[in-house]
Amino acid sequence: MRRNLIQVLESKIEGEILSDKELRDYYSVDASSYQIIPKAVVIANNQKDIINTIKAARKFNTTVTVRGAGTGLVGSALNSGIILDLKKLNKIKIRKNYAVVEPGVVKGILDKKLQSENKFFPPNPSIGSFCSIGGMLGNNSSGSRSLKYGSVIDNVLEVTIADGNGRLIKLPENKNISKKISNISKKISKKSFPNVSKNSSGYRIDTIKNEKDAHKIILGSEGTLGIILLAKIKIQNIPKNKALVVIEYDSNLQAAKNCKEILTTHPSAMEFVDKPTLKHIPEKFNKKTNCLLFIEYDEKISTNLKNVRILSNGKIKKIIHKDNEIFKWWKYRDSSLHYSLKSIKKENRIPHIIEDSAVPIEKIEKVFSVVKQVNKKFGTKSIIYGHIGNGNLHIRLSGKIVKKSTIKAISKEFFSEIIRQSGTITAEHGDGIARSEFIKKQYGKKNYEIFQELKRLLDQDNILNPNKIVSSKIKKVN
Ligand SMILES: Cc1cc2nc3c(=O)[nH]c(=O)nc-3n(C[C@H](O)[C@H](O)[C@H](O)COP(=O)(O)OP(=O)(O)OC[C@H]3O[C@@H](n4cnc5c(N)ncnc54)[C@H](O)[C@@H]3O)c2cc1C
Repeated sequence: MRRNLIQVLESKIEGEILSDKELRDYYSVDASSYQIIPKAVVIANNQKDIINTIKAARKFNTTVTVRGAGTGLVGSALNSGIILDLKKLNKIKIRKNYAVVEPGVVKGILDKKLQSENKFFPPNPSIGSFCSIGGMLGNNSSGSRSLKYGSVIDNVLEVTIADGNGRLIKLPENKNISKKISNISKKISKKSFPNVSKNSSGYRIDTIKNEKDAHKIILGSEGTLGIILLAKIKIQNIPKNKALVVIEYDSNLQAAKNCKEILTTHPSAMEFVDKPTLKHIPEKFNKKTNCLLFIEYDEKISTNLKNVRILSNGKIKKIIHKDNEIFKWWKYRDSSLHYSLKSIKKENRIPHIIEDSAVPIEKIEKVFSVVKQVNKKFGTKSIIYGHIGNGNLHIRLSGKIVKKSTIKAISKEFFSEIIRQSGTITAEHGDGIARSEFIKKQYGKKNYEIFQELKRLLDQDNILNPNKIVSSKIKKVN
């Protein structure tokens, strides 16, 4: 008798197989507004389970989508085939300047272990301790400190993946595959890539200068090119001192202009929150205050503080040196998404699509004017906060919009302007369900075809997280 998918998984997998509807329902959602119910969920015990899951998916002509902690905002970890949960692969080895980590490691646990050795891993999504290393690498995540230390892609040295055929590949160590990736990278049209300091859209083939960079293609690929089984990540010494400066401004544009001047003082983080967000911060602000900048320094503190006092054209509300007070104020900033949800009635929430663009910092004022233009044309309201030092603003739209076509029209209009400014449609959250349809617009047809070539190299049969980043209709070769 021919066995079905669940029976085959049960016979091959040492971990758990979940096939009950209510458990599949749990895995059908993440922090986005999408829902896709999977056929089955595999909670892997080890690498062998991952390979066997891929083999079973191939046999039954279905797909494998790996899930981290499910905190992604655009549905990247949702799909209809098998969902692979790697939370049990959670080993951490710490060495002097690097750590070797499995994908199921929870960020908060890694942070604690590193802290006990006076070290840290710089990328710090505002979701804090909850996300997983696999999800961070899958999305090329970043956060406030990326201004100084870069995104995930700048902080990973090696990855071991299982590709769509279930082959184990270590990059950049595997010379054959690294060479192929490097050769494909030579064909891109660089001028169609955004000119920004952070970018999580498409495949980051622009970062591959030679074979030694081949692993970077996996970072931000949302589980579509390979399932990360192990990663060697760069770690840094925790800075001895920090200072956080909070500045009040009367207008968004005043803050936007001033942030460019203050960037010359080399802060480690520079963040923005607008009026609807700061209303929820339990501190007293000037009545006229319309927005805040949070500026952190972690070196040359006294010189930098002297310079920021000279350059600031807002009102310096606070200069904080004590760790617990700095932590408290960062919590206010990191709660922005939560504050924004509190400000918007449920029926007026518009799904995340334009929430994560970035532009070159010289163009930052333009983002505020485009949002104004969108609000005027579509009758929406907006809340804005985010990593302004990287030109990356999170925009939360609200309004009585029910038609999908209107949301699409807003996204088209907004993204056209962002791309015109050499910006990216997503700086750190990834493309997922929300934005994959805009990738051709972002990169142009030629680069899109190169993305498809990469997909064919590592997942020719489209087993891994289909319909994310590149379309499932990829041409087969041979
Ligand atoms: C309140 C809030 C604030 C946030 N703030 C930030 C922020 O400041 N900066 C930021 O960058 N993001 C932010 N995010 C988005 C999100 O939390 C991060 O991108 C996070 O790193 C995702 O991790 P995760 O484990 O939840 O991944 P998931 O959502 O589970 O997965 C994300 C992607 O990674 C892929 N993936 C997971 N594991 C693997 C693996 N082993 N191999 C290959 N691919 C894999 C998945 O298939 C999926 O495509 C925020 C989200 C929320 C809800």
